[in-house]
Amino acid sequence: MPALSTPVKSAITTLTQSQHEPFYLYDLDALRSHLQQLTDQSVVKLWYAVKANPLSSVIQTLDQAGFNFDVASSGELQQVLAQGIDPKRVLNTGPAKSKRQIEAFLTQGVNTFVAESLNQVAWLQEAAKRHNTRLRILLRVQLRWPDNEKNPLGGDSLTPFGLGTQEWSSLVVTDFPNLDVVGLHIFQWGNMLDAEKLSSLWQQMVDPLLTLAQQLNIHLRVLDLGGGLGIPYREDQPDIDWPAILTSLEHIKTQTKVDELWMELGRYAVGECGYYVNPVVEQKQNYGSNQLILAGGINHILRPAVTTQAFPAKLLRDSEHDSVPFTLHGPLCTALDHLGEHVLPEDINEHDWIVFSQCGAYGFTESMPYFLCHTLPSEYVYQSGQTRCVRPPLTPENYLR
Ligand SMILES: *Cc1c(COP(=O)(O)O)cnc(C)c1O
Repeated sequence: MPALSTPVKSAITTLTQSQHEPFYLYDLDALRSHLQQLTDQSVVKLWYAVKANPLSSVIQTLDQAGFNFDVASSGELQQVLAQGIDPKRVLNTGPAKSKRQIEAFLTQGVNTFVAESLNQVAWLQEAAKRHNTRLRILLRVQLRWPDNEKNPLGGDSLTPFGLGTQEWSSLVVTDFPNLDVVGLHIFQWGNMLDAEKLSSLWQQMVDPLLTLAQQLNIHLRVLDLGGGLGIPYREDQPDIDWPAILTSLEHIKTQTKVDELWMELGRYAVGECGYYVNPVVEQKQNYGSNQLILAGGINHILRPAVTTQAFPAKLLRDSEHDSVPFTLHGPLCTALDHLGEHVLPEDINEHDWIVFSQCGAYGFTESMPYFLCHTLPSEYVYQSGQTRCVRPPLTPENYLR
């Protein structure tokens, strides 16, 4: 887990001198150098899963690093195209592709799709024919694993993502002349930190996928393994071993004889570059516990409530005092608004700010911003010594009707 660098800490400190509300800050210099490490290889073609963080400057940084873009809605597509990105570099995944959405995507020039149902295949064919074009299609496969492990993406439980191999095997690919079925897509495990475990899951996919390709009589040119690479949210967790990931991917590429391996990274691409900076409202003692009440909570950063995993938290200023355990709470009138248990200096008070790190992915746009009518957080970027506000705060009178 990277430590808060001195220049970023001082940029945040400067902002807190004029701010009263929580805000996000993304370190684009750190993002750029991290992305460079990811693209410095020829094993896997990388797409950015826009849902992780759709902020314009984040998308632009990914673009400059050579990533392509995976979008799952018309809104995400619009945001990517607004950054001047060629629609031919966009891939559309997602379980809810209506006929209307497919039509809109084709009109805007997107030609690569992950099909997640038999209807989607039929509707993509109809639309491609109408547009007199041929689309690049991957079929999304959902496998079952014997050991019953839970995972936010479903793991081996039933999800709406794709279809089982048996359901796909009835597809007659030649019935869809405007679709070039180039390969298969599979993604069922999120936030994995163990490269060996991931490698073993990928290994177990090889046989069923090759068998399906054979049944469908398609030449498997592309295999898309989705995302799922994790980042540590606790100090004692190690970073994922990226070189080991590349070694397993290389092995899978040889085994499956595909021309291209694809991944759409979200969390691992952008997670570490973001900070959520949150004013302390007060400290209080309650039933023998130390509680900190913060100005922002799951209305700005929902993830702790849905995963029960907190973002790492530190006091912004330096303190000589001893650290003690605190429970951190947001401002919402629900016990769900809980940002974790953290060991922090005991002299924290109402003038202080808490900095949450690892917040670059699944932060603001994953949250529940309107509940209790608080101000929506602003988003800042830090780059080459400059801090810039990309999205100003939105006050309730500007969103309530
Ligand atoms: C969310 C998503 C990703 C990104 O997942 P991460 O675990 O954040 O890398 C990739 N592919 C698809 C289809 C997704 O829905």
